[in-house]
Amino acid sequence: EDASHHGHRWKVHDPENMQDAKWRLSILSKLDQAIDNGEVWVAYQPKLDLRTRHIIGAEALARWNHPEKGPIAATEFIPAAEQNNRIGKLTDFVLDQAVAAAARVNGAGRPFHMAVNLSARLLDDKDLKSRLSAILLKHLLDPELLTLELTETSAIGSRDSLKVLSELRDIGVNISIDDYGTGMSTLDYLKKIPASEIKIDQSFIRGITESRSDKVMVQSTIALAHSLNRTVVAEGVETQEVLDALVQMKCDVAQGFIIGRPMSFDSLRRRLIIDQRRSVA
Ligand code: C2E
Ligand code: MG
Ligand code: MG
Ligand code: MG
Repeated sequence: EDASHHGHRWKVHDPENMQDAKWRLSILSKLDQAIDNGEVWVAYQPKLDLRTRHIIGAEALARWNHPEKGPIAATEFIPAAEQNNRIGKLTDFVLDQAVAAAARVNGAGRPFHMAVNLSARLLDDKDLKSRLSAILLKHLLDPELLTLELTETSAIGSRDSLKVLSELRDIGVNISIDDYGTGMSTLDYLKKIPASEIKIDQSFIRGITESRSDKVMVQSTIALAHSLNRTVVAEGVETQEVLDALVQMKCDVAQGFIIGRPMSFDSLRRRLIIDQRRSVA
């Protein structure tokens, strides 16, 4: 038998991996402190309404600028924080910043929707609901203007999670299924989750102009979502061709580098001012 077949068994003993694990733990132990020190900040990536062609909102994305190591990717510290049950403080921080930002932006012009990523693990957290309510109240944001993006995992299909999700829904916030298509999405699950939005994963979006199967899958997902009265967001839109194809497919909202990269709050505001002006012209 091929020895590499069993390679994964030895991975834990791989010195490189040990380094990796050690590094992860070392950055993790500094995350809470980094939040207090102002090393962690929130970037906002705009969402474009494909019908009106206006920015209708943004997604908040955590960023960590380490003073010595430089920027640490969210894909690096978020999974580590989730696995070690250290995601609570970061989530509270991002929620507070994002809700404050949404409240400020909503002072003028048309409604602006803010989305925040929520780790499915936090659905077990008994006081998530009261903390969320407190943050909304503190900044006086209409809960309808906040969306919680949850990545589909087996965890959110459980009966307990569904109960928590519907309690969150009762506050008035919206639920979105993030990275749709990559997880455990059975039709049963899609039917039960009180989500008003689904975000099709970028791995499917990228290929729609080249791969027939990606195109067909995205097209039928849009049709299915619409028949269930859900809004469809396409993530990871990088080219004009893909954007045009999504308009043709009647996708509702698009997000991606071609529309805007994750940016500071000040840049987002400038972008919104430009967008507002376009409407009166
Ligand atoms: P996500 O929620 O699916 O966010 C989309 C990711 O794709 C972001 O990566 C974004 O920067 C990136 N992206 C957006 N448009 C494009 C594009 O056109 N092309 C490409 N190649 N990438 C694009 P980011 O910021 O590194 O975040 C990665 C993941 O980390 C997020 O995936 C989310 O699951 C998680 N995450 C980020 N911030 C938070 C947070 O505050 N809380 C939690 N729980 N998770 C977070
Ligand atoms: Mg997301
Ligand atoms: Mg996503
Ligand atoms: Mg993702």
